[in-house]
Amino acid sequence: MRIVLMGPPGAGKGTQARRLADSTGMKHLSTGDMLRAEVAAGSELGLLAKGFMDRGDYVPDSNIIAMIEQYIADPAGVLLDGFPRTLVQAESLDASLEKAGLPIDKIVHMTVDTDELVKRLSSRAVCSDCQTPYNLVSNAPSREGVCGKCGGSVNVRDDDKPEAVLNRMKVYEDLTAPVLSYYQLRVGVTEIVATGTPDSVYEKISQAI
Ligand code: AMP
Repeated sequence: MRIVLMGPPGAGKGTQARRLADSTGMKHLSTGDMLRAEVAAGSELGLLAKGFMDRGDYVPDSNIIAMIEQYIADPAGVLLDGFPRTLVQAESLDASLEKAGLPIDKIVHMTVDTDELVKRLSSRAVCSDCQTPYNLVSNAPSREGVCGKCGGSVNVRDDDKPEAVLNRMKVYEDLTAPVLSYYQLRVGVTEIVATGTPDSVYEKISQAI
């Protein structure tokens, strides 16, 4: 199966995609995680991407498509998280899948009120090694700054700081909302209200797919 999880920053796409990947064996493809790994490795792509990411802007389509293209037809099935985010990316994904003879099976749109998103992002921290997400209010690591899963360092992402968050919301509305309309016509989009506990959201998504 190929499942696309869409939703604004802070909707919980990464959390849910990780759980679904663990329970189904599908491959979790997160362009955000891939880019953060490139930044951490200090690669050419990472150096280019960091400026865009810190401001909350999108990394250019050509770089994103070149980075993810080779993984899209993985025979284990894929859970796409954070891709496609622009119409150019959506058209590229459709062309790659058509070439491989593979359909998109489901597009899930996770919706959350803007006030709740801002609240979530302002208390979010992430392990810089394994990308496990934490909430500094309701689910803080038991040793401050240390990931309970892998021992890596847990930090607030630069792009979760207030100035970048507002820009990310705007960029999402301007560039990603049109992708939803594009897919509403072509594939259909399943809407999930992604508030409540991560367990309850997981249940809703599992039922939808
Ligand atoms: P995420 O972890 O999905 O919130 O992504 C973090 C940041 O990485 C975004 O704010 C963008 O700067 C960049 N990014 C991730 N995925 C994409 C994408 N598909 N297209 C462009 N930029 C992306």
